Amino acid sequence: MLIKDAISWAMSLSLEKNDVQILLLHALGRSTFDKAYLIAHDQDPLSSNIFEQFSEFITRAHRSEPVAYITGHKEFYGLNFKVTPDTLIPRPDTETLVEWAIECLKTLKVLGRPPRVLDLGTGTGCLAITIKHHLPSCIVWASDIKNTTLEVAKHNSKALKTEINFLEGSWFKALEGETLKDNFDLIISNPPYIKANDSHLASLTFEPEHALISGAEGLDDLKIIALNALEHLTPGGWLLVEHGYNQGLEVQSLLHQNGLIEVQSRHDIAGICRCTGGQRPKME
Ligand code: GLN
Repeated sequence: MLIKDAISWAMSLSLEKNDVQILLLHALGRSTFDKAYLIAHDQDPLSSNIFEQFSEFITRAHRSEPVAYITGHKEFYGLNFKVTPDTLIPRPDTETLVEWAIECLKTLKVLGRPPRVLDLGTGTGCLAITIKHHLPSCIVWASDIKNTTLEVAKHNSKALKTEINFLEGSWFKALEGETLKDNFDLIISNPPYIKANDSHLASLTFEPEHALISGAEGLDDLKIIALNALEHLTPGGWLLVEHGYNQGLEVQSLLHQNGLIEVQSRHDIAGICRCTGGQRPKME
């Protein structure tokens, strides 16, 4: 079978071209960014071994397994992250949050020391690592409740040559025993925020439940973060969180109730109100 025929066959199973190309490159042992290779070699025959491997990947994708779990990695903000079933797959929606964080850190006037950043529930480490990659002078901490997830984040931080201080534990409990109160110029988090009975969960069965679901209203974890943020921020420091498409107003009021000012939200690339942030007052 020729490369072009293998692609047409897989697309006839209603898979997206982009996913098919990524899976074929993965079967060929090539970089999944190298789509130009498939175009230049579309008349090349595939060996039976490679086709067998490719059709196994296609079968898994056809059963709705995310392509990122099949290839074991996912691009986020131009960087390549290892993913495993212990980690949420980084989403393009979340790029809005990281972009906002980078903007805040660039405009914050931190004098006489490097800015300090905390990423809560780091998963693959995509937020912490992207921030450190773009702003290497920041000191970055990242927490996760699961040790196996932290191992993936540690792998990514090493592979992407970004030094991150990893902490294990639930939200701010990860800081216990550290002298880090009152310490962060920016706290960022993309916590679980889906309602326990939400119908969207039916299409997310491969991803870790604890990274997706947050109680009956989807707000349990956002409440914990909002409640504890103020005492961990420096005066003028920002809390930025991602949330569900219809949670913007509720999260804004949570931040207000917990003493943050300048509360505002931002939209993701699909135009959905996706993240909300607030600042600890400079003078109290
Ligand atoms: N911070 C990671 C991400 O945005 C993990 C988020 C999570 O597991 N809820 O992908």
